[in-house]
Amino acid sequence: MKSTFTLTLAGALVASVIAQLPILNPKWEAFPHPGVSVLSVGKDGVNGPGLNDMPLPSYTMTKRTNGLVPTPCVDIANNLNPEYDVLCPVTSVEVYDVLYSDCPIPKVICRCGNSSSVHTPDVLAQRLGRVPLKGRQLVRVLMNTVPLEPQCGAWANGADININGSCYSETQSAFLHEVGHLIDYRVGLDTSPYTQPWSGRAAFTDAIATDNCVADWYAKQSYPEAFSEMAVITAWHLYRQHYKQLNPLIENTVCLDNQFAVTIPILSEYYEPGQVGCTSAYDIPNTCVTPPCASLKTREEQQAQYPGVVFEDAEKYIQAYTKSRGGNLTDVGLQFVA
Ligand SMILES: [Zn+2]
Repeated sequence: MKSTFTLTLAGALVASVIAQLPILNPKWEAFPHPGVSVLSVGKDGVNGPGLNDMPLPSYTMTKRTNGLVPTPCVDIANNLNPEYDVLCPVTSVEVYDVLYSDCPIPKVICRCGNSSSVHTPDVLAQRLGRVPLKGRQLVRVLMNTVPLEPQCGAWANGADININGSCYSETQSAFLHEVGHLIDYRVGLDTSPYTQPWSGRAAFTDAIATDNCVADWYAKQSYPEAFSEMAVITAWHLYRQHYKQLNPLIENTVCLDNQFAVTIPILSEYYEPGQVGCTSAYDIPNTCVTPPCASLKTREEQQAQYPGVVFEDAEKYIQAYTKSRGGNLTDVGLQFVA
């Protein structure tokens, strides 16, 4: 089951891209990494530390009691499909502001509090916290919802990540994979006027065509998935290299060396361990969902009570954000603050 986790990783944004891309040639083999299961478990127990041992900055976590829910979380909760998901009444969404020691700007975690089948807040904070700082900064909200069936999934949509389910609590790779999608889009947007992920460029597709394997069998789904699986492997490589562990690269990587050659320069910026200091933040809108915020009748009263908070009604926000989906991340509020 663990090894099948990445199979369920998909997202609306990514799915729209998959439809435009060819399924990669099945002749390519999955990357063989003897004795190590970086992509599924992350702690190999054979060659030394794995993904679960990546450094975790200390953090403080505060559960909101003011009734303010990030509007992206309202959006996700309201758009769950009852055929596939346990519905998450927006009034049940728990919100945590998590302040990590390597960044003075808190990250926001939402969690469907009406189910026991979600991660604990600490597990979510720790999985997100182990994502190296610059990659972590690309995440606007991290949400945790519940699938109707006992299976796991995760997706990246715009700048938001949803973890659907609570199994595989040991799976750091899912978080690194999803942030990999955010990196793919971010780099694509930064280096082109077109809103396509970087993984569709010739630099990457040619590398795959030249190589004899891709990261694993899920990587064969599409170029974005191949990139995100490379992101997981590269995170592990950079971590091991940074801390001078033995065998920074798993042996026998020659079959995907061309992919490494083009992804390491990109991913090292986002997944290099040991970074400190934030350089960007999202201006995340909020919706008054429950009292005391919801007891305030007018927007003026809300703004007076919560100065500095950006308010956006869910309905209006959804319309605006839907237009920007697949578009420029700055449309959803990326602001460089330093
Ligand atoms: Zn994916």
